[in-house]
Amino acid sequence: MPELEEAFVRPSALIEAARRITVKVGSSLLVEPGGNGIRSEWLSRLGSDVAKLRSAGKQVALVSSGAVALGRQHLSLKRSPKLALKQAAAAAGQPLLMQAWDKALAQFGIPTAQLLLTLDDTESRRRWLNARATMEVLLGNGAIPVVNENDTVATEELRYGDNDRLSARVAQMIQADLLILLSDVDGVYTGDPSRDPSAEHMPHISVITGEVEAWAGGASGAGLGSGGMRTKIAAARIAQSFGCATVIASGRGGHPLRALGDGGRATVIDAKGSPARAYKQWIAGTLVPAGSVSVDAGAMAALSAGRSLLPAGVKAVEGTFERGVCLRVLGSEGQEVARGITAYTSSETQAILGRPSSEFEAHLGYSGPDELIHRNDLVLM
Ligand code: GLU
Repeated sequence: MPELEEAFVRPSALIEAARRITVKVGSSLLVEPGGNGIRSEWLSRLGSDVAKLRSAGKQVALVSSGAVALGRQHLSLKRSPKLALKQAAAAAGQPLLMQAWDKALAQFGIPTAQLLLTLDDTESRRRWLNARATMEVLLGNGAIPVVNENDTVATEELRYGDNDRLSARVAQMIQADLLILLSDVDGVYTGDPSRDPSAEHMPHISVITGEVEAWAGGASGAGLGSGGMRTKIAAARIAQSFGCATVIASGRGGHPLRALGDGGRATVIDAKGSPARAYKQWIAGTLVPAGSVSVDAGAMAALSAGRSLLPAGVKAVEGTFERGVCLRVLGSEGQEVARGITAYTSSETQAILGRPSSEFEAHLGYSGPDELIHRNDLVLM
């Protein structure tokens, strides 16, 4: 097949170039199917791979499944499609899962932190921003966030149900440049390899066409987890849209990330653009501004030099808005100079405008960020 010869960026090069990586680990890798709990030796090896990425200067966020499978074993529950049983299993399994991750990474001196998210958290702007801020602090302080769906509170209609798509949202939240989906399949095939011996492995997909989706639709799901190839392709589609490449690989071997770096078999699904650019396009083009702030000449100069907008440079606020919404930034003639995501509500902005950050606490009753709009959340128009 000519496509197989086509030049593309290999997983090893994607890993090498990435600054931030989200790694999703499927249940079937983490949990012994026979009821023997965590595969701790395997996890310890994966921990050493993660530690190696970290010492190469990369930040890593993990999305880990396994709570339901572990909890089922722990409570001796049968496999059941009933949501309440899965939720009970998740409640029992999640602390065991976290302990296992903590142990696997503590041996390399890496602290872990648990984030349990729901679909709501990733769809509502405010909660998204809160989760993102938490994630930034964790990554910035050398910790590894270990994310799972908050299965115990998620309702049937309002849950991901699979961690593939959740991991794509986590990648988006931290503007990762690479999403690695580790499960028991080593990539995308042109059919279901367990049933169709003529199904071919595809090392590279640049556009997710209907044909690619049809291949994925035919593939069976992983043994213990909930996702199949279909949700992996859905995750790759989300990732692609914000400039993040996806690698679908098998974690079956001893050191799955090292193996990828060494040229192991996988499927790469290309990114479009870069995560930062996609985010800024979304601010400039998609969000509807909920209010505006007028700024002084000093702030204008700071903005054009690529700096954040501080409340000190704001002269007036217009509109009533919450945190996390998009604002117009207006210059002295009322012209729009920038747009960005506000860290303060309209009344908070009113209380601190024109003031230095040292005075924020006295006027707000708590201490908030120094910036009204951080430069990462700001686009010059
Ligand atoms: N959140 C589920 C768990 O921890 C896993 C969902 C999935 O298999 O992707 O067990």
